[in-house]
Amino acid sequence: MVDIQKLIRPNVRNLKPYSSARDEFKGSASVWLDANENPNNTGLNRYPDPLQWKLKARISELKNVPKGSIFLGNGSDEAIDLLFRGFCEPGRDKALICSPTYGMYQVSADINNVEMVDVPLNTDWQLNLEGIRSHFSDANLKLIFICSPNNPTGNCMKRGDVLHLASEFKGLVVIDEAYIDFAEQESFVNGLENHNNLVILQTLSKAWGLAGIRLGMAFASTEVIDVLNRIKPPYNVNQLTQEAALKKLNNLDGFQSEVDTILSERKTLGIELGQLKNVSTVYPSDANFLLVKFTQPKVVYQALTEQGIVVRDRSKVAERCLRITVGTKAENSQLINELKKLQE
Ligand code: PMP
Repeated sequence: MVDIQKLIRPNVRNLKPYSSARDEFKGSASVWLDANENPNNTGLNRYPDPLQWKLKARISELKNVPKGSIFLGNGSDEAIDLLFRGFCEPGRDKALICSPTYGMYQVSADINNVEMVDVPLNTDWQLNLEGIRSHFSDANLKLIFICSPNNPTGNCMKRGDVLHLASEFKGLVVIDEAYIDFAEQESFVNGLENHNNLVILQTLSKAWGLAGIRLGMAFASTEVIDVLNRIKPPYNVNQLTQEAALKKLNNLDGFQSEVDTILSERKTLGIELGQLKNVSTVYPSDANFLLVKFTQPKVVYQALTEQGIVVRDRSKVAERCLRITVGTKAENSQLINELKKLQE
């Protein structure tokens, strides 16, 4: 077990958090004169529940995690930022990533003036365990970010590797599972019972089809969740988002069939891309995108843009690679047609 209290930034540990009107009064009432709201009912004139309990109750059922182990934020990007703010002393503490990976970890570290240590993935895109372990003696290393399935490589990290690191590391191991609903590997959420230093990030932005509402989830021990709740803005998840999320999570019709369609399109797209002469590798994917190595990525990127098709140029972080999101059947066909024209 990791001593979480010791990991918390001293100023955060000693913080007296803001207490909103809605935090202070817990009973039921009919006259609300405590929060300087406009009394005329529009359905949105009241502040939302600061801790989103109704939504958490539903997420708790779906994910089989106690409500107190759930943090909800304005996208998982908010949880990433709060982890830095809660656990890393600016100018002193460090975090670790395994590149190539999701770019916001580095940006959040930079914003918070936290040094980032990079232990690049091995050539098979798996974790370099020895490389990571070699930093464990650094008492200032507080966070390790592991993205699984990883953006942009698309693969899951080996379960045993991640759990070994969580057992050995005395800081927090953050596993970003933004793409887990597209993966065969099971979520690490069930690892929470044995590891109080695991933080699992998930989101409604990908498989759930709700990127526009901005709802991210963090699952962790109550000690870690309490830190995030203490430092978050009081009403970080707005009323419209809470309602839209609850509606979606209460009606699972269509969820699995959408995921299944994306998975079957991913397979078709992968096969078709693999047959193109200008493609050298299509990496296996457990996510809703494919990392594809081209002979001339810049030329392809430019030509697609001219046809109004935007993919992500990842050639700076993964040699000669573009990252292509799996679209609808029609969008994927359009992409393949344009790519075929380029080889003529
Ligand atoms: N994690 C990963 C790995 C991502 O790729 C993204 C978005 N591209 C996010 C987190 C951010 O998700 P959200 O929309 O919940 O902020």
